[in-house]
Amino acid sequence: MTDMFNLSGKVAIVTGARTGIGQGIAEGLAEAGADIVGAGHAPMPETEAYISGLGRKFVYYDIDLGKQDKIQALVDDTIKTFGRLDILVNNAGIIRRQDVLDFSEENWDDVISMNLKSLFFLSQACARYMKDNGGGKIINIASMLSFQGGIRVVSYTASKSGVTGVTKLMANELAKYNIQVNAIAPGYIATNNTDALIKDPKRSAEILGRIPADRWGKPEDLKGAAVFLASRASDYVSGHVLAVDGGWLAR
Ligand code: NAP
Repeated sequence: MTDMFNLSGKVAIVTGARTGIGQGIAEGLAEAGADIVGAGHAPMPETEAYISGLGRKFVYYDIDLGKQDKIQALVDDTIKTFGRLDILVNNAGIIRRQDVLDFSEENWDDVISMNLKSLFFLSQACARYMKDNGGGKIINIASMLSFQGGIRVVSYTASKSGVTGVTKLMANELAKYNIQVNAIAPGYIATNNTDALIKDPKRSAEILGRIPADRWGKPEDLKGAAVFLASRASDYVSGHVLAVDGGWLAR
């Protein structure tokens, strides 16, 4: 049974694998046997050391995902280096906090370009290859704000609501090519992204008070869901948004 989750011989691109959730997911996929291309705009020595220590290959790919100009090259170079591409994890994402009445065009465009536009065009580039090569797995990182409104983060909420829509649409069109497109919606995970919330005693207490698991999540908490959605175990799971939230949405 555990063989269904084995990723030996598979190659995964994980965006934003330097820190936080992306780092946890890249490490989890490597623990299950995959080789990893860590795509981001700064080297990832910690992630690289951990994955190399497992005896898996790790390649850092320098790309600014706030723009779309290097997306095709990332896919082409991954295939050139490893001879295959099986899994894409669209994890890289940014957030901008500003009151809705003051929210700037820059804070809108930057977040949408990175969290939604790059996610789509990288998925498209990978899917074109996967279609002609037996299939693959695309995992998008959504959010609780794919379901809820949130406050002071309007472009982030728009992007993450969009991520679930794109996930379902791509799943619908690509399932017939044995490409499964799914999303993981993390709850409140302690990372750089949530640092401002954790440091705000009022917001931090409000958030913790609503989490049935009674703790903030850790990047490692995402490993199991990611390995499941990257592996043969999820071959008939398509267009699903899997919350890993300590029970937040059920509250
Ligand atoms: P994080 O540590 O800030 O991770 C974001 C990652 O994206 C980092 O590796 C970052 O690289 C990378 N990145 C930022 N700008 C980039 C750019 N222009 N080009 C390439 N890479 C870029 O925060 P995180 O919480 O782990 O976030 C990961 C994902 O989870 C995001 O999509 C976020 O929206 C989502 N999420 C987080 C939570 C949470 O509670 N933490 C909840 C729901 C969803 P650098 O560090 O090198 O800048």
